[in-house]
Amino acid sequence: MEDRRSINEFPESYPMNEGDGAYSYAQNSRHQRRCIETAKESIKEAIVKKFDIKTLSAPLNSIFVADLGCSTGPNTFLAVQNIVDAIELKYQQSENEIPEFQVFFNDHASNDFNTLFKSFPPNRNYLTAAVPGSFYGRLFPKATVHIFHSSNSLNWLSKVPKEITDKTSPAWNKGRIHYTNAQKEVVEAYATQYAMDMESFLCARAEELAVGGLMVLLISAVPDVILSSDVTICTHLELLESCLVDMEKVGLVSEAELDSVNLPIYFPSPKEVMAAFGRSKRFSIEGIQEFGNQDNQVSLQTLTLTLRAGLGGVFEKHFGNDIVDEVFDRFSKKVATKFLNLNENQKTLLLSVLLKCKPND
Ligand code: SAH
Repeated sequence: MEDRRSINEFPESYPMNEGDGAYSYAQNSRHQRRCIETAKESIKEAIVKKFDIKTLSAPLNSIFVADLGCSTGPNTFLAVQNIVDAIELKYQQSENEIPEFQVFFNDHASNDFNTLFKSFPPNRNYLTAAVPGSFYGRLFPKATVHIFHSSNSLNWLSKVPKEITDKTSPAWNKGRIHYTNAQKEVVEAYATQYAMDMESFLCARAEELAVGGLMVLLISAVPDVILSSDVTICTHLELLESCLVDMEKVGLVSEAELDSVNLPIYFPSPKEVMAAFGRSKRFSIEGIQEFGNQDNQVSLQTLTLTLRAGLGGVFEKHFGNDIVDEVFDRFSKKVATKFLNLNENQKTLLLSVLLKCKPND
């Protein structure tokens, strides 16, 4: 199978904080939940409209749904239930017998699947299975999955671009952890990595999607022409970086450690997302919607906890757990003095895209 890329080709993984305690993703992912809620109705309508029962290639008595980058819940349950409801409605409207549903929950093998399993909704009307591995490679047999869903996950790159940790490269991101306000070579290295990762993602999904199947992607994005310094999430990452820089100055982390840590996260513009679909040529865009910022009411404490639940793992891997406490303590103090009014400058978009696989030429 020449297109099958093994999980081991994607060794970098930074799962969200495990369990259901105070710092867990399960307790601190309301922002991501709001993204799913915002797009929910329009996704349901689009699936009812575009899911074509007649052209399905895989057996009609079972429908396979996969959520890629599911984390620990509960958000994934909201997203998959919406899809199951939409397809049920479609079958009811067409007076076909309602099929069985099998939902595959995918994330990196290091994700806390046990917490996910323990919190499966008791009255769910679908069967469950977990599929560990990177969604940048193949995960399912050919032409078997009827609906792919992924929310808030495709902002994670498969890896930190190599050049940015290479001292000899013009893209070396010395003393920095992200591309916000970095030199153009760093920004380009991130953008190139994003484009390559999207290509791998779309290539794998094109193999796995059943004929007639759909893919729903919710991606955090930034407006087409804008500086990263004007994007709120990016300014937060810069503030986080400044905490590490302060810690380096007082000897809590070493210069080398600071130089080696970079966040493998990218916020594409709608143009970049569309360009990725255009290059792949395997999908037709059946619907696209842009929603404005989802975080009108966020408190500083919530902001700190949300960032910690998502990014704590990256810092923990590099510096250990004590440093994570210190970084986010410092962050919460800084954010309180810097951003008294958090909502003035929100320029993050949510893109909701519905895709269909084109038949092979
Ligand atoms: N979909 C959930 C979780 C989003 S958090 C929600 O909307 O709330 C992002 C998730 O994507 C994390 O759990 C992370 O481990 C996962 N992820 C990131 N890159 C991945 C990859 N290459 N393969 C599989 N999962 C990935």
